[in-house]
Amino acid sequence: MDRAGRLDRRALLTGGIACATAALSGCSSIIASPVAADASPSPRPTTPSAAWARLMKGNERWVSGDLQHPDRDPNRRQFVAQEQQPFGAILSCIDSRVPPELLFDTGLGDLYVMRTGGETIGPVVTGSVEYGPMTSGTLLIVVLGHQRCGAVKAAYKSIRDGEPLPGNLQAIVKALQPAYDQAARKGGTDPVETMARAQVELTATKLRSNHDLAPLVGKGALAVVGAYYSLDTGKVEVLADAPS
Ligand SMILES: [Zn+2]
Repeated sequence: MDRAGRLDRRALLTGGIACATAALSGCSSIIASPVAADASPSPRPTTPSAAWARLMKGNERWVSGDLQHPDRDPNRRQFVAQEQQPFGAILSCIDSRVPPELLFDTGLGDLYVMRTGGETIGPVVTGSVEYGPMTSGTLLIVVLGHQRCGAVKAAYKSIRDGEPLPGNLQAIVKALQPAYDQAARKGGTDPVETMARAQVELTATKLRSNHDLAPLVGKGALAVVGAYYSLDTGKVEVLADAPS
């Protein structure tokens, strides 16, 4: 049996008992440590601050170009084929220039990723963000906005000019209204940039105080970070509540 096969068999043996008590998570929390150490060069973080540090290290590599492309080989694919336990959940924009797995230099099975225009949320998206923290011990949620966001810019113009966007695009505009209002109150020379940052902070605050996520945040099992990505430099900047 090759290495991947051994890992898979061990994962099944390890998971068999715990699976019975992990119905909600689909057994996704059962394979964490015993086999992770020899399947991955980078063991899964065990605290929100370690999870955040992992992401920031990856972003440093993205900025410098010294990429590791960790855990993207057939062994890793085999290792996570039956179960997953991502350490982070990223809510980011659909923008093609902001792919979380690349800009944090993460591997297969490391992240849940939700992407919507202007990282807007509604019940379905919020449920998807909640899934990891509520079922499999995901340690970190990152709300990631970005420079020159087209969705925010379009929503800003639509609201300012009182001209709704066609079809379902208007749903994105509506979801961005609170960020527009906050930016209008703040003022400044670049209202679209202010609105994009406000959207991150409002969304992170909303998730952090959410009925189901707040208790996890309260006991230190989860952190919800607001962050902002520069298209120019590739760097992720903290806007709110990075765990230390
Ligand atoms: Zn965007």
